[in-house]
Amino acid sequence: MTLARVDVHTHLGQHGTHVCAPLAEDEIRAWGKVSWDVTPDQHAEAARSADTSIVLAFDAEPVGVVVPNSYVAEQVAGRPELIGFASVNPMRPNAVQLLEEAIEQLGLRGLKLGPTYQHFHPHDKKCLDLLAVADEHRIPVIWHQGTTFTPSAIAEYARPLQLDLVARTFPQLRMWIAHFGHPWADEALSVIRRHEHFFIDASALDTRPWQLAQALASAKEYRVLDRVLFGSDYPFSTVERTAAGLHEAAGMCRKIGIADVTEADVDQICQRDSLSLLGL
Ligand SMILES: [Zn+2]
Repeated sequence: MTLARVDVHTHLGQHGTHVCAPLAEDEIRAWGKVSWDVTPDQHAEAARSADTSIVLAFDAEPVGVVVPNSYVAEQVAGRPELIGFASVNPMRPNAVQLLEEAIEQLGLRGLKLGPTYQHFHPHDKKCLDLLAVADEHRIPVIWHQGTTFTPSAIAEYARPLQLDLVARTFPQLRMWIAHFGHPWADEALSVIRRHEHFFIDASALDTRPWQLAQALASAKEYRVLDRVLFGSDYPFSTVERTAAGLHEAAGMCRKIGIADVTEADVDQICQRDSLSLLGL
């Protein structure tokens, strides 16, 4: 058995080609290094730790990142263990057409959005028009609805609560919020608990154990732990580090007595059949 049944959150993208300034420079300022620089071979090696991995394109020109849909489609072709997701900035004049092409011609099976990086408000009509395409094609949507280090992102578009209207507008659309919506995990959980097709992923919080412990405790208290999906956010973390971080955070919950998040709870997150839940 691998450490994770489905890793719902992995990236491709190489520094200088797909990941450029200002984001690449802001990575150095914030972290002291560029982490988002991974070859397809490195990604393939890391992906061996999960049975299936979702690989995300990212159309975020306003912050200097474009991992094209065609590139992701090429890399996942003939690799049944990898599922490619498109990314289209709803502000592009031909956004609807680009998403239709990504689904119908490139065979991509989901949509990645990050309003804070793509400079749009989730309630913008252009966004809702794009989501209608996802809804019609029954493809799931992952949202980066949380904070980020780069000042080129627009923080006002990053709050999880903004997705409640989206979920009410598209009640059948499968969606999830990445990184527990950090640092607004409670806000993100308050949204997903209201909508049965809304999920959340636990990625990229292994370096913030206290935040992760609080998020797990809240998910348990709100009774939505069964909608927490496993994601690594590779190359920012790995399946191994994410699984270890979840166990450590659950242990912290029990040790300080904030919630009885058990080892079995964590095992269920790691072995969750996220593909079925997302309709993939
Ligand atoms: Zn990510």
